[in-house]
Amino acid sequence: MCRSCGKCVETCPVDALELKDGAVKWNPVRCVDCDTCIKTCEYLASPKIRFMSVEELVAEIKKRKAFLRGITVSGGECMNQSAFLLELFKEVKKLGLSCLIDSNGYYDFELYPELMDLCDGVMLDVKAVDPVFHKELCGCSNETVLKNLDYLLKIHKLEEVRTVILPYLDEQNEKTVRYVSEKIKDKSRYKLIRYRKYGVREEGLNKLGEENVSLEYMETYKKICAENGNKESVII
Ligand code: SF4
Ligand code: SF4
Repeated sequence: MCRSCGKCVETCPVDALELKDGAVKWNPVRCVDCDTCIKTCEYLASPKIRFMSVEELVAEIKKRKAFLRGITVSGGECMNQSAFLLELFKEVKKLGLSCLIDSNGYYDFELYPELMDLCDGVMLDVKAVDPVFHKELCGCSNETVLKNLDYLLKIHKLEEVRTVILPYLDEQNEKTVRYVSEKIKDKSRYKLIRYRKYGVREEGLNKLGEENVSLEYMETYKKICAENGNKESVII
């Protein structure tokens, strides 16, 4: 989350940011999407945000309704705003549209029954199943993520699972892909995401290196999915 320190304001090449009344204001018309501000932020936040009420957002959705089957809320982590999501989903459902959640899985979905009733499915990141490795990689436990995987399967609301296949980490990659594909079988899509250095912060590059994962390497994991009955695995 942005802490309004103002550092990114100085680095924007086109003056699309200003610090006003103690908060950073973003001008989307001036912005050229260079992402310098995001690279500058030491809190891993983005100043490229607009504050909107549920009513304002629903008004925008209504304008585009003819082209939509539904909405997907993403982030950052959208579950940080779960109370907002609940009100948004109530309104979006009235329009006859579906509501998906894209999440890192760190919030326990079972504790949000009203939201889960309205939600049509969750796209869940499972970065690693090994608890020690997950802690090393992400700095936190994966206990809730794995609990969510089981829970979403049980309530038939697992839209897809995503795992980034990491370079030179064969054992961890295999452990995660085997675990997830055995669990989900044909009940959900499984996206196997090729690690690429682009867009990875310096801290990540120091841990994982700069080499992109090859398509040939990805195929070995797709094969594991097929062996486990998950025919809906996709390499991206
Ligand atoms: S986005 Fe980051 S750098 Fe910019 S004001 Fe917020 S906390 Fe500071
Ligand atoms: S992404 Fe936009 S707001 Fe951020 S530094 Fe670039 S031009 Fe400025």
